[in-house]
Amino acid sequence: MGDQKTSPITAKPILVSACLLGLPTRYDGKAKPSEKVINFLQKNGLQPVPVCPEQLAGMSTPREQTFFNKGDGFDVLDDKGSAVSAKGDLMNDTFIRGAKMTLRIAKLCRCEHALLKERSPSCGVHQVYLESEKVKGSGVTAAMLMREGIHVISEEDI
Ligand code: SF4
Repeated sequence: MGDQKTSPITAKPILVSACLLGLPTRYDGKAKPSEKVINFLQKNGLQPVPVCPEQLAGMSTPREQTFFNKGDGFDVLDDKGSAVSAKGDLMNDTFIRGAKMTLRIAKLCRCEHALLKERSPSCGVHQVYLESEKVKGSGVTAAMLMREGIHVISEEDI
């Protein structure tokens, strides 16, 4: 292409929950932009790969809120837990689909790390909601990524 120089790609890719980057992907149609996350990415020379597992699963935005009513994301993957919508629909298959799509993107983009939104039923890393209570546990996508050897942290770890 003429004498145009191509610069090497040096920034390390990292999966990031899209809502933390300011994209309005949440169940309520809003974003959850985090300046701390943006600064962390810049400071560490990381290239964010935005993902929203729930949108990747084919859910609409806005959508009904979902929470666990048995176990957490690891239990959902093992068919021992359940995630339900506010209306009471079982969401396990949908959430597992979103997790698989997110994992595909991680592999395509060679992400070895992920920075996800705490307490979401998909993205939560250390905590999730069991009905209306905050409990220890991980979301379905976070659990799948961890099992695949991806190093997962939340915005509260930085
Ligand atoms: Fe954000 Fe994850 Fe919820 Fe999507 S699924 S809105 S990325 S917390």
